[in-house]
Amino acid sequence: MSLSRRALLSGLSSVAVLGCSSEPRLRASRVASAPAGRVVTGREALTVIPGIPTQDGAGVSLTRVIGQRALDHLDPFLLLDELHSDEANAYIRGFPDHPHRGFETITVMLEGRMRHRDSRGGHGLITGGGVQWMTAGRGLVHSEMPEQEEGMLWGFQLWLNLPRAEKMCAQQYQDLAPERIAEHRLASGGLLRAIAGEVLGVEGPVEPRATAPVLLTATLRDESPLTIDLPRDHSAFVFVQDGEAEVGPERRTTRVPQDHLAVLGPGTSLTIRARHERTGILVAAARPLNEPIARRGPFVMSTQEELDQAFLDYRNGTLG
Ligand code: MN
Repeated sequence: MSLSRRALLSGLSSVAVLGCSSEPRLRASRVASAPAGRVVTGREALTVIPGIPTQDGAGVSLTRVIGQRALDHLDPFLLLDELHSDEANAYIRGFPDHPHRGFETITVMLEGRMRHRDSRGGHGLITGGGVQWMTAGRGLVHSEMPEQEEGMLWGFQLWLNLPRAEKMCAQQYQDLAPERIAEHRLASGGLLRAIAGEVLGVEGPVEPRATAPVLLTATLRDESPLTIDLPRDHSAFVFVQDGEAEVGPERRTTRVPQDHLAVLGPGTSLTIRARHERTGILVAAARPLNEPIARRGPFVMSTQEELDQAFLDYRNGTLG
């Protein structure tokens, strides 16, 4: 069954593609859950991809995981960068003013501080354990700069596509201070922090999005398996930012070393074990859009024409 047909049958996803996600609606995360009675299957790693060291912004050293040759995108995820350095020279130049249109940028800070400012006077500080979920929508110009001159800066930026019908919606920020993230203490002593979606009975604070994302970080302290439910047809990945993990159901596991990403196959659950006494993971899942992607630099649209318009609007100062 095609996604669009299923969306029509569900009678709810069709709402999601008509309005903007910031408008109130039923929680979309319920839609993609596997119907009761279906066989529960554990997701396996389809491929494991190493992050590639590169530079972006004004000369920030980072590891690009999604948005590189080996993994251009994982619909609806467009990009995943990890910043991880205690050398100021690697991050101090930051990301001065630049535009975005057509998608969402999610900044997850593990350690350190980033200052955000946009062209309309909006600003915010993202601190260790905090998250900024920014819906660029029809556009904005902003800067993302480290708010520190030394010490560890460790975090992610994840780009999540918007459905074509929402690309020109108004900008929206969800600034989530560390205490807003929903935490679940694992029996092993590890900690799971849910940013979006429902995981192990805790619900991430991000408002419902059209792609019904599940996003979490977790630290694992021993080899006891962590098993979570994930919506069956969501695209999903596990990134290992610390230590080493084993992903997949028993006897069908795959080792995922540090700074590697496992693309997950379909299924309703995910099991992860640490293979190191201190293992840190990022898990993301979201409903694929199955729409054409026209992307260049900071703009992600659906057609070349829309992309050209974005560059034109940026040059004319009418992006937002
Ligand atoms: Mn940006």
